[in-house]
Amino acid sequence: MTRAELLPLHTALARLMAAAPPPPATERVELADALHRVLVAAHCAVIDVPPGDNSAMDGYALRAGDAGCQLPVVQRIAAGDTPQNLPPGTAARIFTGALVPVGADAVVLQEDCERSGDRVRVPGAIDVGQHIRRRGQDMRAGDTLLHAGRQLRPQDLGLLASQGLSEVDVYRPLRVALLSTGSELKEAGSGPLAEGQIYNSNRPMLKALLQGLGCEVDDHGIVADSALATAEALTAAAQADVIVSSGGVSVGEADYVRDQVAAQGAIDVWRIAIKPGKPFAFGRVGTTPFIGLPGNPSSAFVTFVLLARPFIHLAQGRAAQPLTTLPARAAFAVQQPGVRQEFLRATVSLRDGELWAESYANQSSGVLSSLSASNALAVVPVGETIARGDRIDIMLLDELLR
Ligand code: AMP
Ligand code: MG
Repeated sequence: MTRAELLPLHTALARLMAAAPPPPATERVELADALHRVLVAAHCAVIDVPPGDNSAMDGYALRAGDAGCQLPVVQRIAAGDTPQNLPPGTAARIFTGALVPVGADAVVLQEDCERSGDRVRVPGAIDVGQHIRRRGQDMRAGDTLLHAGRQLRPQDLGLLASQGLSEVDVYRPLRVALLSTGSELKEAGSGPLAEGQIYNSNRPMLKALLQGLGCEVDDHGIVADSALATAEALTAAAQADVIVSSGGVSVGEADYVRDQVAAQGAIDVWRIAIKPGKPFAFGRVGTTPFIGLPGNPSSAFVTFVLLARPFIHLAQGRAAQPLTTLPARAAFAVQQPGVRQEFLRATVSLRDGELWAESYANQSSGVLSSLSASNALAVVPVGETIARGDRIDIMLLDELLR
């Protein structure tokens, strides 16, 4: 194989992004049910938050100009109370979150004051505005709070509730059909392996990755390597918004996926210049986009992360988000330059204020234990060698559930 036959990752990604389907239909859901759902429209603030000037501390509200005086305490204002105007030369007992009365322009801490009976001596130096949370300092009516396409996190739900919203328009969860192709596969829990069989490890792994992204998974289980089984599974899977399958896209004789997807739609098989990873298939069954991941578990995982994940983001109505790349130093060496960009399974840890990436000894694409033991992918660019201590890019896998 020559380098010219391999498709660079960014080209494959650009093709995929261009072919992403429009987002699913929309629906209105209660805020309580909106976690991980994707916002249809931008949300602007409709009210100021906080809605009025309020105290950031427990203490006394007063005029800064009365610093150093002993003042009568003429009212007590707790959170939720409606205060009365504060006459000059007086103070109000006030608590955190309570509205600052008209007339007061500062709050002093209770521990900085001397209280005797119904009078209080206040400190000699007071700044105008101190310990007051001004109306609108958090959000002002008209501010854009959340952009369209935002996948809602717990703190976003709090933000929307602070605006008085109890419902929100979101996209329906993306329905993804999942197929595990291979006659050698046996489901975990269905008894011991017969000769030649292996357990289906891609199925729970890919299902979890999809669910982590907020997709609903139609799990079609194992699809035997036969034209009929493949054709039937694809027809059923095409009911979903997107089909993701693993295995059966290499050029081996028992790989029926390519022919059967082609028969019901169209397919391209790309030999992408990444390791682990090639081959990768993309097409459609009817009008339903089809993503064919390689069968080797580590290849399936890496191609899912690099290619399927941003495609799914777009199909969900989100902006495509690649995993964040961080700078680290290699605690390993690569002596032979490769023709494919390599994503080494690695463990990244902080040492002396820097991230160091240790790569696993066995980087074979069939080895899943190294992936389970790793917390990052370390990137080795095409045609480069790496010496210990070199600067490299890493991608943290903990970011995956988004
Ligand atoms: P394939 O892409 O179908 O040629 O599969 C490549 C390799 O991955 C073969 O060794 C398969 O047995 C293995 N494989 C395929 N699918 C799975 C799966 N769901 N779980 C574990 N290994 C798999
Ligand atoms: Mg196979």
